[in-house]
Amino acid sequence: MNVRCPNCKKVFNPNNEQEKFLMYAIEKKQALAMIECAECYKDVPINPMNLMSFEPKKDKVLTDEYDGKSCPVCKEGILSFIDHEKEKFWGCGECGNVWFSKQDLEKEF
Ligand SMILES: [Zn+2]
Ligand SMILES: [Zn+2]
Repeated sequence: MNVRCPNCKKVFNPNNEQEKFLMYAIEKKQALAMIECAECYKDVPINPMNLMSFEPKKDKVLTDEYDGKSCPVCKEGILSFIDHEKEKFWGCGECGNVWFSKQDLEKEF
């Protein structure tokens, strides 16, 4: 199994535990799973439905004003706007928080 890290853009092999976790996420058709990148050691948001080509900064069709802003919760991560089929949400790759509506996200600022 190969996964591309949306942070450092390197492709890495998840360990057994992560692979199990991703297989489960794929089965559940999750749009987001946080795993630790073996290259940059960051917890990164992976799209289990598209492990290789998913890059939050490049692949998305829509852009959003909150995309790329600092996370209001941990202040260290960067928010990514994820637009995946019917699901749209904002997520932080550092703390793993996700917001499913803009109102919820705006409340944090
Ligand atoms: Zn990485
Ligand atoms: Zn955060």
